Amino acid sequence: MPGPPTFVIGEFAIRPEAPASWSFSALRGFEECPMRWALSRTANPCFGGLVPQKPNRGGVEGTLLHELIERYERYTRNPGAESFRPRRTLLELVAAWAKSNEANPRIDSKALAGQVRLEEILRAFGEASSHVKGAERQSNTGTRSGGNRSAVLNGSESWLRDPKSKLCGRADFISMGEIVDFKSGEQNDYHADQIVFYGALYLAAAGEAPTVLRLIYTGTNEAREVPVPTLNELESVLEEMRRRAAVADQQVTDGELPARPEQTKCAYCHVRGFCEKYWESLSSGSHGDGPVVDYAPTTAAVMDSAALGIYVRDNVAGVASLLHLPQEIAEKVGGGVGRIRCLALRATTGPTGVRFTLTHGSEVYVC
Ligand code: SF4
Repeated sequence: MPGPPTFVIGEFAIRPEAPASWSFSALRGFEECPMRWALSRTANPCFGGLVPQKPNRGGVEGTLLHELIERYERYTRNPGAESFRPRRTLLELVAAWAKSNEANPRIDSKALAGQVRLEEILRAFGEASSHVKGAERQSNTGTRSGGNRSAVLNGSESWLRDPKSKLCGRADFISMGEIVDFKSGEQNDYHADQIVFYGALYLAAAGEAPTVLRLIYTGTNEAREVPVPTLNELESVLEEMRRRAAVADQQVTDGELPARPEQTKCAYCHVRGFCEKYWESLSSGSHGDGPVVDYAPTTAAVMDSAALGIYVRDNVAGVASLLHLPQEIAEKVGGGVGRIRCLALRATTGPTGVRFTLTHGSEVYVC
């Protein structure tokens, strides 16, 4: 197995500027952990820019599904001589995704593109497109009331902006006041809050309330109708979100960007390799409940050089541990074993202690 991606962390300063806009996800992400938000916007020499995301297969499939729906919706508005071919379009999108991500050193974009489940995406698209078709029919025949609704706010991936603040949102599909959001993952409580927020933005932009707020879970083809709040309630949502955005802006301006480590959240954090607070919180050297953990050698760790790399012998929570790193990493680490941060190692417990081994998702950061 080739060595894992290894990054030597250079000098960097965390000084993000207040953003031009706040989406629901960005604001929620900021409030969960301001440091994660800040590190995501900080250039680092080892990447020659911002820390790239490390998408997994499910994330890529969600992205491709959204793009396929968007292409289809554009086609329905302006059909050409040829009929829409979902499979061919999807294959084009997969190839384009692999190409545009090939410079991301955290992933092998071709290999990841090869793992994408095409049939699953096409099945989910089949379910989602029926909602797009239905809404288009209503829009063309005018069967739904509200003929004066803003045509600017119709279509897929429609941007909604609050004229009085930095708030914005990108709804997956809007037609005649119906706002639809497609979700490829599992149901989550905040999805309803998010689509109500889109409803509040719609009110701010169009001057009238939306008629329908609908979440479509493409994995199960489940449609969840979220009750449309009253005008007063939508205005309250908007006011509250404006207040939260103003607080976040002020925090960014003041440089008040605390890290808020918490196991589940940090396990999925794509900038944890750079987060001092996270690594300080690994009091016993490793982090994680399952067989895959993050690990930084403790101050008691000893490094042995061998022909095929280095062995790091340590003591994790009172248990002897062993990690082997291949030669190419050993060269980057030099003699400073305390400079290593390893992400996503497999921890196997045996009679002699814990053995850490590399997985396909492992990364090594050298401070
Ligand atoms: S590792 Fe945890 S504490 Fe650090 S930035 Fe990420 S989410 Fe925040």
